[in-house]
Amino acid sequence: MWKIKSFAACFIILLLFTGGSWLEYKQSGIELEKMKTDFFSQHLKNFKLRFDHDKYITDNQRQVDILHYDLFFDLFPEKKKFVASAIIKGVLKTKGLNSLDLNFYDNFEINLVELNGKKTDYTYEEKLISIVIDHSIPDTFKVKIEYSGTPKSAGFGGFSFARINGKPLVYSISEPTYASTWFPCNDLPNDKALLDIRIKNDSSQVSVSNGVLVDVVNDNFRKTYHWKTIYPISTYLIALYSSGYKHFSDSYISIDGKDTMDIDYYVLPNDYKNAQIDFAEHVEILGFLAETFGEYPFIGEKYGVAEFLWQRGAMEHQTITGVGSNLVGGKNFFLDIYIHEAAHQWWGNAVGLKSWKDIWLNEGFSSYCEALYFEYKSGSSALQTTMQSKRQRKFIGSLDEPGEFLFTNTVYNKGAWVLHMLRWELGDKIFFKILREYYRKYKYSNASTGDFKNVCESISGKDLDKFFDQWIRGVSEIELSYDWETKQIGDNYNTLIDLEQVQENYEEFHFLLEIGIQYDGDGIDYHKIYINAPSIRLTINSSKKPESILIDPNQRILLSAKSK
Ligand SMILES: [Zn+2]
Repeated sequence: MWKIKSFAACFIILLLFTGGSWLEYKQSGIELEKMKTDFFSQHLKNFKLRFDHDKYITDNQRQVDILHYDLFFDLFPEKKKFVASAIIKGVLKTKGLNSLDLNFYDNFEINLVELNGKKTDYTYEEKLISIVIDHSIPDTFKVKIEYSGTPKSAGFGGFSFARINGKPLVYSISEPTYASTWFPCNDLPNDKALLDIRIKNDSSQVSVSNGVLVDVVNDNFRKTYHWKTIYPISTYLIALYSSGYKHFSDSYISIDGKDTMDIDYYVLPNDYKNAQIDFAEHVEILGFLAETFGEYPFIGEKYGVAEFLWQRGAMEHQTITGVGSNLVGGKNFFLDIYIHEAAHQWWGNAVGLKSWKDIWLNEGFSSYCEALYFEYKSGSSALQTTMQSKRQRKFIGSLDEPGEFLFTNTVYNKGAWVLHMLRWELGDKIFFKILREYYRKYKYSNASTGDFKNVCESISGKDLDKFFDQWIRGVSEIELSYDWETKQIGDNYNTLIDLEQVQENYEEFHFLLEIGIQYDGDGIDYHKIYINAPSIRLTINSSKKPESILIDPNQRILLSAKSK
């Protein structure tokens, strides 16, 4: 997910983007990124989605492995309701369960519940339907639930029957735990399954979802679009969009040149021209990400973008990112968001989360991909500028336990900084080898911070306990106090530098520090020194007389330094 400038969104945005002048800026992407950061830093406070970790999932749910969702929605936008069915196939991992629990908001009228073809008893309260297993069923089960009603708005909205320009637009946004506002599911990010979804609406409406379009069936002025995935998907990434979309497409060619895949855009008629300008870079973005990490994970399906009315950013629904219609202006203003969402197809969608507490693996990785893409386009100064734009506010809390608020500045931007610092410490070759291996190993599956650390250690051959402890579990940044003097010895100079770590809440960071020695009108020498003590004295020899010293002059780590 990309919330406007990563601050978990704000309603103010809506006002901002309707102002025409805001979209008139024509500076480069990097400058705009910086401007937006400045602007949003001033205007946005912490709008945070409260996340209820514990009460949502029952013990029974962890004993179930869902294999397939077959969903059907008959939409009636004018009445803001649907008639739906869900056929869910799965496996019981534990024998003797007396109920099959699925997350499902209790505001629907339920017309049928069947387990393995037989009507069965159930309880249906709050966010759970608990289906009684009153007969001995095999390990494999099939639940069928028929229901109807109007979904309850929750989280970032859940399922919305909205309107724009007097016309209906139906869309969903379920991250993290709101898929159950519109279909029954085992709403754990690590219980991936395959999906068939049929969406029926007035024949003037185009209905879009994940995966590939199997067919479109016309029936009495109604059309049913059948979409299907061949790759597993987490429930929060399942999406539904239905509106009077105009469609256009692009072609992506795989990096081995053997496959061609469609990139499909579903846009509001009024935005058709602007979207063609704004979305044009997707081919290059996917190509860059594939070259960097490995082939696009859903090459047998598609990549796509659909406009929706969540105006606070975008959401990386698997193979069909939702983009707020206010973000389509024909000025290429939100390139960073398109990069971020495309990157999620690798980080978050293909490599999923084992649990929500590791959300930085989704958001930090995708945020860092913005910087990597700008580096690829414009060089290392663009990388540096982008990373600086991501550290304008102090990071609060740890990446290890984001707590009840998942979508914070820390998760997005400190997460990106952790990767940036890992790259500095291990070098480009090993760093990118790690990301490629991590992707290869966990593609179509789920990973944790520990899994990522294990890949980092096995590829680099280094013990990274300290690195992960200080940056993932830790809540501090490095603060240095320093002093220096130069002594002339014969024709040479000895520069003595005293460094002391003075940050609160973390006694001793270990890190690779770059020090620049600046000479009188004669350039800078750079030295790399591994710091592994709270205070340290360094000696640097030179043949020229130093004029000043620079601590971390290329801003490679989360560090601030003050002269004593
Ligand atoms: Zn994101």
